[in-house]
Amino acid sequence: MNAEIIAVGTELLLGDTINTNAAFLSQELASLGINVYRHTVVGDNMTRLKSAYSEAFARCDLVITTGGLGPTADDITKEAAAAYFGLDMELDDNSLANIAAFFARIGQKMTENNRKQAIFPTGAKILDNFAGTAPGCIIEANGKICILLPGPPGEMKAMYSHHISDFLAQFSTGILFSRTLHMVGIGESAMEQRVADILAEQSNPTVAPYATGRPGETILRISAKAADQAAARALIDPVANLLYQRLGDYIYGEDDATLAGTVVELLKQRGLTLAIAESITGGQLAGAIVDVPGASAVFNEGVVTYSNEAKTRSLGVLPDTLRKYGAVSPQVAEEMAAGAAKTAGANIAISTTGIAGPDGGTAQKPVGLTYIGLWFNGRCQAKELRLFGNRQRIRQRAVSHALDMIRKELSNI
Ligand code: ATP
Repeated sequence: MNAEIIAVGTELLLGDTINTNAAFLSQELASLGINVYRHTVVGDNMTRLKSAYSEAFARCDLVITTGGLGPTADDITKEAAAAYFGLDMELDDNSLANIAAFFARIGQKMTENNRKQAIFPTGAKILDNFAGTAPGCIIEANGKICILLPGPPGEMKAMYSHHISDFLAQFSTGILFSRTLHMVGIGESAMEQRVADILAEQSNPTVAPYATGRPGETILRISAKAADQAAARALIDPVANLLYQRLGDYIYGEDDATLAGTVVELLKQRGLTLAIAESITGGQLAGAIVDVPGASAVFNEGVVTYSNEAKTRSLGVLPDTLRKYGAVSPQVAEEMAAGAAKTAGANIAISTTGIAGPDGGTAQKPVGLTYIGLWFNGRCQAKELRLFGNRQRIRQRAVSHALDMIRKELSNI
């Protein structure tokens, strides 16, 4: 079955609200194997909404709308659907009683225009709204199905899971199941180049690189359409194995994994504790670790030592080293890591020092030059990075590289 989604609301067209409802519904329909071919956004306007229905139903059999079910005059999604299907509108006593009960429960007076929310196209199957007042409905007419859901995402999702996912399961020809491989330390184009032949060869499963909001990270999603999850996995797993052969060192986890979460897990598995000494990342590295639930089992201590004086006082970095090599140097990165390990009594320590810009760069030490220091088992090392982007991106990338350095050390990569 082919479907389209129509999001109704002028606030969406104005850019005041992001159309997250369409994203949610598309994901749900994909997981049922129902193809979504188009998203439409239309304002609260009867003529344009009616033509949106006509155009969508000329192409597909299922339309899901969100929004415009409320009590006010500009909420016209049901009225436009009734006009498109040539149906009358009639009051549903049960819905009216539910709406009255909702207002009684929250101790507010029900206004006359709330009656509008209990009026539906004749023959529609009405969907209770457990999270708000506007009920939704399903209209089945002329061989087409139109599902009308409320706009507020919480109400829409609750209604979808209560009423719609089971209803749509009858049309499911299978499922779309995915495995997502998260990578760090390799750019998108370099990654694509390594697996271009695999990407080109596949039709089921498909393999697609996706942008990720996480700096320094890339994603490959392997998606298969199949009768059930086991069959989808059987299609996906051999392709995933091929990708691991080519990109294994860069893949830190799958699906919901995060880089910091992977690091915390590795530390836990090995029974190690971590200390962090930050300059350029100013606490973001410790923040990333603390974001992971259960980080307290492995994270001892983090310090932000921004000035030279602080590096010496808190971490024991030698004034001589600072004078001779400068604060942004591999020597200082190593001494920071060694000092953090010692003061915190941790098994492993990581440090960051660099030039985030926009000022402060020189020909020898340009903006973006960063050193990550790592101390582990009495051994120090420092990695030089030439990071790019604005101040914020450079600092975020430094966090990713630092986490990846711990990951690689603990995974013996
Ligand atoms: P209600 O009467 O309960 O508000 P409604 O169906 O009339 O329901 P709308 O008035 O269209 O819903 O939208 C209510 C709010 O829901 C909007 O102000 C917006 O914050 C949110 N919303 C609407 N459509 C979307 C969408 N497509 N994606 C995300 N949020 C949305």
